[in-house]
Amino acid sequence: MKYYSTNKSVPEVSLMEAVTKGLASDNGLFMPERIEEFHPDFFRRIHQMSFQEISFEVAKKFFGEDVPEKTLKDIVYDTLNFDCPVVQLSDSIYSLELFHGPTMAFKDVGGRFMARLLSYFLEGFKKEVNVLVATSGDTGSAVANGFYKVPGIKVFVLYPKGLVSNIQEKQFTTLGNNITSLEIDGTFDDCQRLVKSAFLDKELNKAMVLTSANSINVARFLPQAFYYFNAYARLREAGITEELVFSVPSGNFGNLTAGLFAKFMGLPIKRFIAANNENDIVFNYLKSGKYEPRESVATIANAMDVGDPSNFARILELYNHSHNEIASEIVGYRYSDDEIRQTMKQVFEEENYMLDPHGAVGYRALKADLKEGEVGVFLETAHPAKFTETVEGVLGTGTVVLPEKLSAFMKGEKLSVELSTKFSDFKRYLLNK
Ligand SMILES: *Cc1c(COP(=O)(O)O)cnc(C)c1O
Repeated sequence: MKYYSTNKSVPEVSLMEAVTKGLASDNGLFMPERIEEFHPDFFRRIHQMSFQEISFEVAKKFFGEDVPEKTLKDIVYDTLNFDCPVVQLSDSIYSLELFHGPTMAFKDVGGRFMARLLSYFLEGFKKEVNVLVATSGDTGSAVANGFYKVPGIKVFVLYPKGLVSNIQEKQFTTLGNNITSLEIDGTFDDCQRLVKSAFLDKELNKAMVLTSANSINVARFLPQAFYYFNAYARLREAGITEELVFSVPSGNFGNLTAGLFAKFMGLPIKRFIAANNENDIVFNYLKSGKYEPRESVATIANAMDVGDPSNFARILELYNHSHNEIASEIVGYRYSDDEIRQTMKQVFEEENYMLDPHGAVGYRALKADLKEGEVGVFLETAHPAKFTETVEGVLGTGTVVLPEKLSAFMKGEKLSVELSTKFSDFKRYLLNK
């Protein structure tokens, strides 16, 4: 399968090139040349299949031409060795829990899948590959843990100083080995800008092989489509046959875009809800048709603090830049920190369910928008214990029990290098590595 750039001013590339480069050289995002629909038979038996079996079928549609079947199966089965349950909160509202993986947030799937796929493509490759990743918290931990000790690959995690939770920070800064954490004295947008500038810098690219593990990378974001197929299957298994409405807490829009891909592949999804915090660039676009990126603001749902969502370019591409079409498939909501806190408190008290701040945004938008006769699923994108300070600030001290997987990280020592937001500093640092 070939991949083209959303900016369309460079030739198509192979999957291997799309994965090893991350971003196209005209600064566009890679898109698969076609999206194959499943035969209706697949949906007739999907509820009898496991998460791994379903995901393998989905993976074959994208990667089957470029990766031997046995290798692809290994990659999928190794990546998805955890549950992804759908939990009912009220009559028609379900939580899709995407936090049962190694770092307890949904990005685990893309992080591990990409590490495995890249490592397959690099077999026999002589040079070392450097993965650059900008994070507002969870990407860093998922990618760092996915790539930890993978031979031939070095990972540089750029994160905004003081703007990620304690546990998130521990999850990537304590690993060492092939993982280096760079603490940037700025915002997530600054981190993302540094990474993008690095890809466009001729001198740097001559000196070292660089790729990105942000959701701009097709190997990072496409596997997230697995989640939607699995949610549908598990609900069917429970006897629910309605078309579904998915509410997706969104920042860079990788997760929601993967859902759109699932729909294009024939998954019966009625529509999507894009749930934002105060970083409401897409919310405004959906209302007005104007896309106006701006500096991100810090919120308690920090993994969604994005001022210029990179996957928006893919959404435009999927719908031929038609605002009408996009707005007929996706409705937007936006919530303040106070509203997020209020939702966490209310759902804990009334439904006896603990939401993390991101899931709370998704839940609230779904609750506000779900119509009579519809069944809705919101993505619970991280375990609440990843945001213990915030959650206990709302629900009370002692309410959060730290799972074993997370407490193990807390014992490690933070190893990170502080850098300014200047590209010249970052570049010098990389060149001296
Ligand atoms: C990354 C992240 C999001 C936002 O996902 P995008 O794909 O960037 O839109 C939401 N919640 C959590 C917990 C995340 O880590």
